[in-house]
Amino acid sequence: MSMSRRNFLKTTLGVGIGAGMLGLGASLLPTMAAHAALSTREMYVFGTLVNLGAEGDAAQAQQALNEIEQRFLLMNRDWHAWKAGELSTLNAALAEGRSMAVSNELAVMLRGARDAAQASGDLFNPALGKLITLWDFQSDVQQRSAPPAAEEIAALCASAPRMSDVHIDTLDDGRQVVSSRNPNVRIDLGGYAKGVALDWALDHLAAEGLHNAVVNLGGNLAIAGQRDGRPWHIGVRHPQGEGVIAAIDAQGREAVVTSGTYERFREWDGQRYPHIIDPRSGQPATHVVSATVIHADAAWADAAATALVVAGAQGWREVAARMGVSQVMVIDAEGGVGMTAAIAPRVTFVGARPARVEVV
Ligand code: FAD
Ligand code: MG
Repeated sequence: MSMSRRNFLKTTLGVGIGAGMLGLGASLLPTMAAHAALSTREMYVFGTLVNLGAEGDAAQAQQALNEIEQRFLLMNRDWHAWKAGELSTLNAALAEGRSMAVSNELAVMLRGARDAAQASGDLFNPALGKLITLWDFQSDVQQRSAPPAAEEIAALCASAPRMSDVHIDTLDDGRQVVSSRNPNVRIDLGGYAKGVALDWALDHLAAEGLHNAVVNLGGNLAIAGQRDGRPWHIGVRHPQGEGVIAAIDAQGREAVVTSGTYERFREWDGQRYPHIIDPRSGQPATHVVSATVIHADAAWADAAATALVVAGAQGWREVAARMGVSQVMVIDAEGGVGMTAAIAPRVTFVGARPARVEVV
């Protein structure tokens, strides 16, 4: 079957602050040959363009999409790293050394993020929100241009905020209470919450009997079932340029999550400073420019993709193994592609084949 006859999805990354590109998100392109109608929804939430699609009875699907939209808006408020909401209230408490009772949803999220951080050797480290603020990535519009002072970065790195500093206790009365022994912990779920939202959305659709569906949160994508009786056809955005570098077919319940450094970055003095920070140095990770993970659990895939960008071209295999993600493709700053043996048969390069492709 030719590619044009399939349903084509582009996984692109969220907001390009540095490039001044807003809403250059993912798109769900229409399929001329499709017979099963797809109910769709597009919205702007989590700072990125969101696309939802579900096959099935249109009224039922639209109702489920409404519910997801409402829930996403609540998640956006509750889990926002710099706007008023539950997470911001918690961060304020932790900074003052106070504990705080949180919702069950946030407690589950923090436990999941803590497990992923531990598995990644703290390369995925959502406790480093102060560093993200210092680099001015916790903002819609950047306020500062020059990189932060080396002393400021060094001071935060020395205090080593990490998720193992965070305690999440279940009290006898069932309340979930969060505390931190490190006042420099500031939780930023930008590398994780969208994955949690993906899992929730597909669970919700399945509970409503909608088993063929897609959810794309700005390059964090998850699918269920099939599209029109065939696999979903997914494109991985080219990190250098506008098009797609590779196509991947997926069916069943799978997340295809890409983390990249090419859309959200700042520029100063001719140099790019992307938004994924290496917790060891406090500096932006620059060597791996794109990491794609296919995994059943979208939240885990989201955390892993971020960790693999940090791990770099030398370290990604070890981190993937530690995190138990077998299907990985990374692209380095020179355009070289590294893949695991498990993902390689699923990847079809689109356009010119990359200069170097290594399967390990
Ligand atoms: P990922 O690699 O999955 O995540 C990278 C992000 O995680 C970074 O941007 C940073 O926030 C954080 N991070 C950096 N280094 C690490 C590390 N080593 N370990 C763990 N985490 C790290 N953006 C806006 O511009 N405006 C908004 O209003 C806005 N609202 C948001 C609301 C919510 C609830 C969430 C979760 C995010 C929001 N964002 C917003 C941020 C934005 O959508 C994403 O965080 C950003 O696009 C990066 O996500 P990603 O999937 O591309 O990359
Ligand atoms: Mg991530």
